[in-house]
Amino acid sequence: MKIITRAEAAKSGLNKYYTGKSCRNGHEAERYVLNGTCVQCAMESANRHRNEFSELLRAAQGAV
Ligand SMILES: [Zn+2]
Repeated sequence: MKIITRAEAAKSGLNKYYTGKSCRNGHEAERYVLNGTCVQCAMESANRHRNEFSELLRAAQGAV
């Protein structure tokens, strides 16, 4: 993957940039220009939330 700084990405109208360095969770992934979050971290956190809510939903439905 080509290294592109956050400012370069923003100037090129891209919503992601790539530093070539791993994030604090060790992912070597692109990051979002807007919040600096690594794409992999964002995806994992979305999955985690989805699992949390699907478990809540299952528990609630099972209790009926
Ligand atoms: Zn990450």
